Amino acid sequence: MNLMTIHDLHEKLIAKELSAVELTKAVIARRDAADGEIHAYLSTSDERALAQAAKVDEKIAAGESISDMAGIPGAIKDNICIKGETCTAASRMLEHWVAPYHATVIEKLAAEDFVSLGKTNLDEFAMGSSTENSYFGPSRNPWDTERVPGGSSGGSAAAVAAGEAVWSLGSDTGGSIRQPASFCGLVGLKPTYGLVSRYGLLAFASSLDQIGPIVRDVTDAAIVLNAIAGHDPRDSTSIPMEKKDYKKALTTDVKGLRIGVPEEFFGPGIKEETKAAIEAALRFYGKEGAEIVPVSIPRVKSGVSVYYIIAPAEASSNLARYDGVGFGFRMPGKDIVDMYIQTRSAGFGPEVKRRIMLGNYVLSAGYYDAYYLKALKVRKLLKDDFDRAFSQCDVIAAPSASGEAFRFGAFSDPLSLYMEDICTVPVNLIGAPSISIPVGFHDGMPLGMQLIGKALGEETILRAAYAFEQGHPEYTKTAPKGDM
Ligand code: GLN
Repeated sequence: MNLMTIHDLHEKLIAKELSAVELTKAVIARRDAADGEIHAYLSTSDERALAQAAKVDEKIAAGESISDMAGIPGAIKDNICIKGETCTAASRMLEHWVAPYHATVIEKLAAEDFVSLGKTNLDEFAMGSSTENSYFGPSRNPWDTERVPGGSSGGSAAAVAAGEAVWSLGSDTGGSIRQPASFCGLVGLKPTYGLVSRYGLLAFASSLDQIGPIVRDVTDAAIVLNAIAGHDPRDSTSIPMEKKDYKKALTTDVKGLRIGVPEEFFGPGIKEETKAAIEAALRFYGKEGAEIVPVSIPRVKSGVSVYYIIAPAEASSNLARYDGVGFGFRMPGKDIVDMYIQTRSAGFGPEVKRRIMLGNYVLSAGYYDAYYLKALKVRKLLKDDFDRAFSQCDVIAAPSASGEAFRFGAFSDPLSLYMEDICTVPVNLIGAPSISIPVGFHDGMPLGMQLIGKALGEETILRAAYAFEQGHPEYTKTAPKGDM
């Protein structure tokens, strides 16, 4: 039961084969048994979860209809605000900070009678690819606990893969939903920039951040997206548009769909097994009547450089607010300037400090034009490359990561870990949607493929993802360590 999907469990709830309270208790029990080893959660909220579940059971008993997600326990990345709960961003700086309001996504989920079992681990302020940068220690990959679950939303992915939550929310600034989903054998969707409100998401890089689901299958991704997408006047970058039902996009018909394959995503550094798994997927699409189109996105190779200028620049500005006055942690000093210095020195970990320094450097007088402005220009050229590719195809297929989840400590220098983001950061830089789906295994570990869409092309990537998934139940329905 712990590895069932939202849609399967919904059927069981409405058929009264299972109550929401029973389900919630079962997932809590699973979490309590597994989380000592996995460390997916930073905090739990069982009382609230059980009260929410009881409310759903009352609705079912009264013959009322319930929403797709009602009563089905999930988990929320700990950089998304839930009123009255701590929101730490896995940082000492916010260790005891309690969110004074709900993020918009939480308000929307509350309207669906969601149940949340707690907040999940991440790299500090979502900066990283493994959860090794969490102040509270890393999460472990349920497929092999010697390996990372990916990051920064590693706790969210580990929770779902280990059966400690049915679904979760992550945030993706440069791959933090897709890469952990790929490392944990799950589906992760980064929506188009502006489709999901960022209000109440602790900002990392505001022009790149998006919230999205990490789930067990493509249908669940559509269900969670249905719940969280939509215009929000409190986020000035939110797209004003009518609500859609993404479940309607789930058909297995890919006849005539043009799938672009950019060679630049398959260059050195991408493991042969990853390439082979994606090639097999492309052969499947070809057999199903899709058209495979070679395309070129030459500036993919600049993506990491551009991202690691723009993201730290925005982060250095966003994180300026953590000064020991307005939020969370404070270290006393001999005067106010000393207090700022002591607070920020002790409150942030090494990676966050590195990014703040990098960001301040590229924004400072004399370097602004050479680095930040130049990065913005290359970002535009990258967008032009994608636009050209999308004039020849509807979806772009690419790896989600170079290979399977790596072992703890595999990357001792930050730069080589940054290079691992090569497949994911270009998508954030252009604001496009992308879904990562399980596409095979290597060394007993799952591999992921991205399907990247045009802006607001969620329906197309969901359709392509669904078609593959329906043809390959062996990738989605396999659980780590057998059926838990
Ligand atoms: N790995 C990338 C980074 O370290 C992406 C993180 C994210 O998407 N939040 O910045």
